[in-house]
Order: sequence, then structure tokens, then C-alpha cells
Amino acid sequence: MQLPEIEVGLTEEEIAVRDTVHKFAEEVMRPIADRLDRLPDPADVIADGSELYKVFEQYRALGLGLADTDDADLDPLPRARMRALINEELGWGDGGLAISLGVADMHKFFARMTGRPELIERYCTPESTEIGCWAITEPSHGSDMLRVDRTNFEPPARPPDCVAEKDGDHWIINGQKAAWVSNGTIADVGVLFCSLREGDNILGGGIGVVPFDVPGVTKGKPLDKVGQRALNQGEIYFDNVRVPDSYIFIKPELYTPVVEMVLAAANQTMGCVWVGCARAAVEHAVAYSKERVQGGVPIFEHPHMQSRLFKLFMKVEAARSLVRRVAYHNSMGQAKVEYSIASKVFATNTAFEVCSDALQVFGGNGLTKEYPMEKLLRDARASMIEDGCNELLGSLAGSKL
Ligand SMILES: Cc1cc2nc3c(=O)[nH]c(=O)nc-3n(C[C@H](O)[C@H](O)[C@H](O)COP(=O)(O)OP(=O)(O)OC[C@H]3O[C@@H](n4cnc5c(N)ncnc54)[C@H](O)[C@@H]3O)c2cc1C
Repeated sequence: MQLPEIEVGLTEEEIAVRDTVHKFAEEVMRPIADRLDRLPDPADVIADGSELYKVFEQYRALGLGLADTDDADLDPLPRARMRALINEELGWGDGGLAISLGVADMHKFFARMTGRPELIERYCTPESTEIGCWAITEPSHGSDMLRVDRTNFEPPARPPDCVAEKDGDHWIINGQKAAWVSNGTIADVGVLFCSLREGDNILGGGIGVVPFDVPGVTKGKPLDKVGQRALNQGEIYFDNVRVPDSYIFIKPELYTPVVEMVLAAANQTMGCVWVGCARAAVEHAVAYSKERVQGGVPIFEHPHMQSRLFKLFMKVEAARSLVRRVAYHNSMGQAKVEYSIASKVFATNTAFEVCSDALQVFGGNGLTKEYPMEKLLRDARASMIEDGCNELLGSLAGSKL
């Protein structure tokens, strides 16, 4: 079943793209995510021959990747409308895979920004199949890496876990990023957020593109976690990794504004993805309530059931209205991180509440792996920590008011 759609003025192109992504979400993402979720060992999710790679291949074949797509020529607002539709459908398919597909392309923006021809030719052509990642958090620095209202580089902050030091016209990178880097175990390249050091002094933050096939890069094992199990995550280790100066092209003076820009984009995208998850939960609950006969009638007919379902429907609509409004605003070039955070926090909290209440509609069946609700609830739970713990994001956004 599909919920009604009231978005005003969808163009034929928007409807066509949304329908294409919906088909991909339904026929490719959902069944594969379901099978990957059930694998007891997360190493099997990323093993050679895993169905995970089919998701990447088929998504690329659609030409809908983040940075090199058919919509790249659109003006900012129509592009934002298109992206919001795409991201919601991907989240409807599977939240973890949606994030995996999203971060997989992140390095393309940054590779272009370096201006280095060898990076652009390697990573930014339609034939480029490299998988990227966003390596920002560290073992000793989680939520604080996203606190753009404070510095992480002055005492009493703990020393950074990943440091680049200048050596002539190169940087030498040492240390590691957290076990939480999405796509970390399979990434070919990363957008690295690290600390820059000169002698004993930390100069501040740096951001750059680091190919992972250079000597000294190794990766951790995939995390075994409660939800979003199709999304692989793991550490990246750096042992005297040498990259040209221009690969780490964001220096301390621009570090914080760029973190803010990336956080604003990431949180806004998260909002759309997790509205998709919440919408999926409501659709499952409505469909189940009409099928499940108990006490002689479908539970849909029991007292309060329709108003319970309506409350879920209303929450999804409210979250969708907010996330799309933020997406459209951000596209005009003046992204406001507090609005992006509102989008992410509201949508992920909504996804969790709606998945929990939708599971309740399934009664005991909701708790079993025979039905989709327990997976959706686990996936939504992880989203409240992903891209920053919701309460920490809340205090960051609050500091901007
Ligand atoms: C599904 C998923 C995907 C992720 N993807 C990526 C990725 O692609 N790249 C990447 O680099 N990282 C990624 N992360 C990491 C994520 O950004 C961090 O997990 C998140 O920022 C929280 O950091 P932490 O886990 O270290 O928790 P901590 O920062 O240690 O927080 C633990 C608890 O302490 C609270 N807390 C922390 N600081 C304060 C404070 N100052 N005041 C009050 N309370 C505080 C928090 O609210 C939380 O409840 C991902 C995480 C998840 C779950």
C-alpha cells in the first residue's frame, strides 16, 4: 500500500525519477538489505560476491549518484526537490544502504575542489566506480568532532587520534579514525578530517581527499551492531601515509566553516532518508491492520486503531514538511546548520517513534523476524546517533538561536 502524496506541483520528470528510485528501492534495496541484515557475521556483508556490491552497481546504472547525475545540470531548487524525493525513496528502501550509497560519492565533491587533475580524472568520471567515505570521528572524539561552535584543538581537549604533519610539499598522516566510519571497511578513498601538526603544536583541522591504495593505509573489521546492518562501518588506520600538500586542501582557517557546511548537508539528507523509513513503517502498519483478522474482524476495524494509524501518518507528514522545507532553503546557498539539525533530529526521532508504534500494531508478530518491523525499529534507533547524537546536535543548534 502507498500513502497519499500531497506535494504540490511535482513535474513529470520528478515523478518519473521518484518512480524509478522507488522501483529500485522495492526490487533491489529491500530484499538485499533484508538478507544482509540476517547475516550473523558482518564480515559476510562485505565479502567478495556479497549482494552489497549489486546495490552499488545497480544504483550507478540508474545514474542517480550524488555528484555525477542527470540532475547535476538542474538549477539549485529543482535539484534540491529532486534530491529530497530520491533520498526519501532510498530511505524507504533501506536506511543503512541509503547512507552507504550517499557517503560513497562524497569524495567526488572534494576531489573536484582540490583541482588536482589526477584526482578528478580518477574519481569524477561517469566510469569511476570507487567507493568513498566520510572519515571524521575518532576513538577519542565522537560528537565533539561535529561541535562547530567550539574548537577541538585547544586544551583541555584530548589529543587528536589522527594527525597530518608537513614534510616539504607533502603531508604525512598517522593515527586512526573511529570504528564508525560508514563504508570504512570497503572504501577506496576517503574524505579525511584530521588535525594538522607542526612540531609539538596542533595548528587546527585539515580536510582532504586520501586515496586508500597508498602505502600505509589499512582498515578495520566491520562492526557488529544492532541496526543498519547492511551499512558496513570500520576504522581506517594511517601509518606514515604520504600525500601531496594539495590533497589536504582545507587548512585550519577554513576548517570549521567547511565542517559546518558538510554537517548541514549531511543532516539535511539524513532528514529525508529517515522520513522514508518512517513512511515505510506506516505503510506496513496500515497494510497489516487490514490483513490481520482478530476477534472476527480485521484489527483496522477495532476501536482506536484508525486514529492510532492516523497519528503515525500525521507525524510522517509533519517530518516530511520540515525536511523538504530545509532542503529547499539550503539549496539557495545559505544553508543554516540549525535548520538541518532540526531536520535530522526531528526526522530520526519521528522514525524511531513511528517504527515503535507501528511495531505495536503488529502485536507479537512485530517482534519476530518474519515481519519487517523489528528491523525498521533497529535501523531507526541507530539513526539517532548517526551523524551526531541527537541531543548533542540539539545543543549545537540551540547555541545558534
Ligand atoms: C549508523 C552510524 C553511522 C555513522 N557514520 C559515520 C561516518 O560515516 N563517519 C564518521 O566519521 N562517523 C560516523 N558515525 C559516528 C557518529 O558520528 C558518532 O557515533 C556520533 O557522533 C557520536 O559519537 P560517539 O559514538 O563517540 O559518542 P560520544 O560522543 O562519546 O557520546 C556518548 C554520549 O555522551 C553524550 N555526550 C557527548 N558529549 C557530551 C557533552 N559535551 N555534553 C553532554 N553530553 C555529551 C552524547 O549525547 C552521548 O549520549 C556513525 C555512527 C553511526 C551510529
